[in-house]
Amino acid sequence: MYPKITIDLDKIKHNIETIKRRCEERDISLMGITKSFCADRNIVKCLEEVGVEYVGDSRLENLEKIESKKLKKVLIRLPMMSEAKRAVEIADITFNTEYETIQKLNEEAEKLQKVHSVLLLVEMGDLREGTAPENMEELLEKVLKLKNIELIGIGANFSCYGGIIPDEEKFLELSELAKRLEEKFKIEFQMISGGNSSSLYLLKKGEFFKINNLRIGEGIVLGRETAFGTKISGCYQDAFILEGEIIEIKEKQSIPRGKLGVNAFGERPRIEDLGVRKRAILALGRQDVEYTDMIPQDKTIRILGASSDHLILDITDSEKKYELGDKVSFILGYGSLTRAMSSNYVYKDFKEEK
Ligand SMILES: *Cc1c(COP(=O)(O)O)cnc(C)c1O
Repeated sequence: MYPKITIDLDKIKHNIETIKRRCEERDISLMGITKSFCADRNIVKCLEEVGVEYVGDSRLENLEKIESKKLKKVLIRLPMMSEAKRAVEIADITFNTEYETIQKLNEEAEKLQKVHSVLLLVEMGDLREGTAPENMEELLEKVLKLKNIELIGIGANFSCYGGIIPDEEKFLELSELAKRLEEKFKIEFQMISGGNSSSLYLLKKGEFFKINNLRIGEGIVLGRETAFGTKISGCYQDAFILEGEIIEIKEKQSIPRGKLGVNAFGERPRIEDLGVRKRAILALGRQDVEYTDMIPQDKTIRILGASSDHLILDITDSEKKYELGDKVSFILGYGSLTRAMSSNYVYKDFKEEK
């Protein structure tokens, strides 16, 4: 059944092993981030088999599916007040920046006779979530008094909103803040988490100071670091292959005919006149993928555009003679992967050598 995404578990496992080993060489623990594949059971099993200690996801619905007793479950998006009870029930650790929310987690933990762990995110310039460094002391002062909350550490986000990439300077700043807080409150942080796949490039040569954890999503699934968008050596980029089926092949003019308005998404398309071209339509659309974030494996194919359920391709230059019913395959970027994995209309097929 199509569209179909074929998932090569051996390749994913290899990526996880490779990145985990490189982290461990620098005394850094790995948190496997599962949101891009909705914490799919088979992939989570790979994380567990490789011996990853933490799994992180932004949604409780995903964390809830993880049955493993070995993996520590981390909610990496700040909990909503309305999900505080479920957060304490489902997650071992949550990321936080708001005292009010942590108070609520404390109340819920008390009711459940549990101690809930929190990690506090510091704003380091990327301007998504995070408490300003100068306000951290005040926050810690209050959090440390909560009976059913354990503070396990601090962390930061990079390359999320502002496109600020982590570097040694940022790592030093975060490490020095951690040191100051540890000294002031006479505590020792278990985890100082230094960002996501955009921190991977620093494993080669950078200094991590006190940072002892990285949270990696894209790196393990697509074998890419995200500071510069380069391939990670020794990792696979094609663990996920998406295939769509051709439902129309026709020669058409490149330029639409008639009065120009907007397309189905309110966009005014800019189209180049290449004369008559051979086009194929796949039964696959924006509901299933981010069409600007995928690459045909047949390099001569060009993606022209997409509506909700149709992907339009220019196949004129291909040596392959495509026919109705043929499949066209793509390597996915992170946006497309996330959408394909969460689309109910995309069939998932797991491949494993054993
Ligand atoms: C998504 C996310 C990550 C993982 O990012 P990748 O670029 O996929 O490695 C890490 N931390 C937080 C808080 C996130 O939201």
